[in-house]
Amino acid sequence: MTIRGNLQSIRRQLPERIKLVAVSKTKSIDQIKEAYQTGQRMFGENRVQELLKKWQELPKDIEWHYIGHLQINKVKQVVSVVSLIHGVDSFRLLSAINKEAEKCHRIIPVLLEFHIAAEESKFGLTIESAEEILSMPETAAMKNVSINGVMGMATYTIDNEVIRTEFEHLSEIFHLLKKKYFPNAGHFCEISMGMSDDYPVAVLAGSTIVRVGSKIFGAR
Ligand SMILES: *Cc1c(COP(=O)(O)O)cnc(C)c1O
Repeated sequence: MTIRGNLQSIRRQLPERIKLVAVSKTKSIDQIKEAYQTGQRMFGENRVQELLKKWQELPKDIEWHYIGHLQINKVKQVVSVVSLIHGVDSFRLLSAINKEAEKCHRIIPVLLEFHIAAEESKFGLTIESAEEILSMPETAAMKNVSINGVMGMATYTIDNEVIRTEFEHLSEIFHLLKKKYFPNAGHFCEISMGMSDDYPVAVLAGSTIVRVGSKIFGAR
């Protein structure tokens, strides 16, 4: 299958309301251009240098999503080019994004990353640590970040029941936080979950953004 064919078949499967981020990490400029030519405008990267290089070389109507673990010392470099930072998992990171975004007069949309998988290695907040961040007056005072929802990754397994349970858990977290901290905030509306192998399960569990790489561009 071609990149075009892969994208078309994924888009056909996705309900209209769902955003598709084409995860282009490690993929070439030409491969991204091929996706761009089919109308794809959201791309996801997880390395700062690679993102900056691609941003420079590719059309400026692309929305770049930062999907990886973002180090505090690299925040400054990404805030001027990203449309959404998916993986915010600490107050320090949120605060650093706010500070750098203020310097370039931007409001950066971010998602809070939750640890929902059984694996220990993955980054992410617990519900307690997220509530701690959301309760802080310092967080409420941040004018240059917009907390738009949540993000998470399921356990790497072929057991769909495990994956389903984890994604449903993330959906519950989203609804709990929405009710408690964002009852009237229309912008808090995103649940970023689902990758190449599990996006159909994620969609059924309420995902609003799927991040798909290898199913579009081939194995890395
Ligand atoms: C690499 C990556 C993806 C895409 O993975 P595929 O299995 O290739 O679809 C999605 N989300 C994150 C956070 C990633 O790092």
